Parts: sequence; structure tokens; C-alpha cells
Amino acid sequence: MPQVLTAREVEALLAAGQSLPTGALLTPSARDLVDERKRAASSAKAAVVVATPVTVVTSTPAAAPAPAAGAPSIPDHEYRWTPGSDPRTPDEIQRFFNSPPIEELKRRICDMGRRLWLKDYTDGNGGNITIRVGDNLALCTPTLICKGFMTPADMCLVDLDGNQLAGTRVRTSEAKTHFGIMKRQPAAKACVHAHPPHATAFAISNATVPSCLIPEAEIFLGKIGVAKYETPGTPAMAEEVGRVGVDHQAVLMQNHGVIVWGKDVEDAYWKMENIDAYCRTVGFAASLGTGLHRFGPDKLKDLIALRQKLGMPDPRANLKEAELADNSDFRPGAICQPTSVPAPSEPATDADIEAFFRKFTEVVLRQLNG
Ligand SMILES: [Zn+2]
Repeated sequence: MPQVLTAREVEALLAAGQSLPTGALLTPSARDLVDERKRAASSAKAAVVVATPVTVVTSTPAAAPAPAAGAPSIPDHEYRWTPGSDPRTPDEIQRFFNSPPIEELKRRICDMGRRLWLKDYTDGNGGNITIRVGDNLALCTPTLICKGFMTPADMCLVDLDGNQLAGTRVRTSEAKTHFGIMKRQPAAKACVHAHPPHATAFAISNATVPSCLIPEAEIFLGKIGVAKYETPGTPAMAEEVGRVGVDHQAVLMQNHGVIVWGKDVEDAYWKMENIDAYCRTVGFAASLGTGLHRFGPDKLKDLIALRQKLGMPDPRANLKEAELADNSDFRPGAICQPTSVPAPSEPATDADIEAFFRKFTEVVLRQLNG
């Protein structure tokens, strides 16, 4: 069987100065990465040939492969820049910041912000959005703004250390948390952070989100990561979220909310909808008290393979079926609902206590077996 390489594996091979194995298959993200490197190498060569002084080119998204006339296609909104072409002087930065492709991205951020707010995923000034637009550049939402009512003029341009380069409003203090992921994971071109109530309920509980329940969640969210609580906006938070986010596209931030990433801002936003809908459904199902019906690790393997085909990482990809079956963290019967034993109206006798424990043990065993 031919070897399948992900973008991360290709990145590692190229960083080590090795060439790709003959006959290896590339995931879509890996293919994009190789194309990007080829473009960078050929533009570097061209610059040497014409011996022009170093000029900074305004980045524009590379054109997606043109489909044959009239052929159906999928719109591609991923922003691709030429590596090494970040604008540097104040004039270049302003021209870039006001260029048509960047204006389009600002409008898309406003659209996603409106959708976050309409879905009740952000409250007050909560949530923030970033799109990577260069080697060391990102667009981001400003601080202290309702995500439902932003305009393109509110957007900011920052470097990946969070220094503001353009925009009239002050950038969000949580941008650095997003960059914790972007600096480690080149496929993360956009991040969305919000506080969707159902997923955030899991983030503040001791329950782990269970898997093997709904196939779409396995494909589009993959294994949901959990970042330990750190104070919002601190370097420790960026470090922790980056550590978890490199391999997980959807991350529950303990005692806080959710951060998701994708190849473009809508792709990332969809994952916010996916995780909140999943957590809401799981919560309802758990409250039915009949246990959760899971599909097996053999089926989970199929879904993980599909996810990889779409170029999305999954830390479970190399696990064996027996390891995938280890899915016992979530005890809906014990955690999400009280047992059905009524509180005794009179002081409990030994027989009452024994009956309670027998009943309790039955419920727990049923949940374990269910
Ligand atoms: Zn937050």
C-alpha cells in the first residue's frame, strides 16, 4: 500500500532536507504545502535571474486550480501567500491592509462574527477571530466589541507576536492564544474562539466528551482536545492551547470556552457549530438515562481514515483498535443525572442503605455495559 503523508509529515521531511518517498500519496493539505514550497522556490529563482532590488510584493491568494469550463467545483477560500513576501515598511503595510483580498477577508470575519452572535456562541464582547495572511501576519478582531455588529473598518493587522501593525481599534488580547496554534500548525490558517454554551458546559464539568456516537463529529472535529485552564490572554494560555491545538482542530479550554481552527475562517467557524451541536446532543442523550449507544473502534477507524483523506490531523490515526476502544471516561449515568433512588423521608436504616447501594451499583454497571 502506498504511504500516505500528511502536511506535518511533509513539513518534517522538508525541514530535515529530505525528499518525499517515491510513490507516496499526499493529503490535500500536504499537496498544498508542496505546491507552496515549489512556488516559493521558483519565485526566489526568478528574483535572482532578474536581479531586481528586494521588493515586497503585496500578497494575494494563489489562484485555486481552475476547473474546466462548466465543471462543478467547490469554492476555495483558503488564503495563500508567497512565503517571504510579508510587507515591511509602513506604506507597504497600509497598501496590503487595504488591498482587495484583505478587504474581502475582513468582510468574511464580520460575517462569521454575526453568525457566532446569532447562534448565542458569544456574549457581551466575548469571542475573537483571526486569519493568517503572511509568514508573520494575521488579521484579527478588535478587543471590546460585540461580534454581531463588527464592520471591516474595525479589523486589525498584527504580527504573530501580537504587535499591532494596522487598524484603528486595539486588537483582541486573546490573539496570542490563536497564534500559539498557528505558530505550531501551518494548516491552521484561521482560528475562532467563542463560549458556545453546550460545549462550554463540558469545559467546566469533569465529564470528557465521548466519541463513537455520531460519524460527522469524528470526521469534522476529530478527537476533541482539552487545554488546561490558564488565565486568558497570558503566555501560559497561548502555550497550553498551542500544545493541544497542534493535533486537535477543536479544543475545549477548561473553565473558559472553545477554540477551533481550519483552512479558512468559515471552515473554522463550522467546527464551532459542530462541537456545540455535538455537545448539546450528547447532553440530551445522556439525560435520557438509558446509556449511550456507541459504534465500535473498527468503524471509528474508517472515519479517522476519511478525516485524514480530507487533510485534517487526528492524534488517533496511529492507534490500534483496542486503544481506540478505550473510551470509558464519560459516565452519563453517574455524572449527568442523579440516580433514581428517592431521598428517604425518614432516617435511613441499614436495609435502606444496602438497597441504595445495590441500586446504585446496578445503575453504574448498566452504564458501563451500555
Ligand atoms: Zn474567551
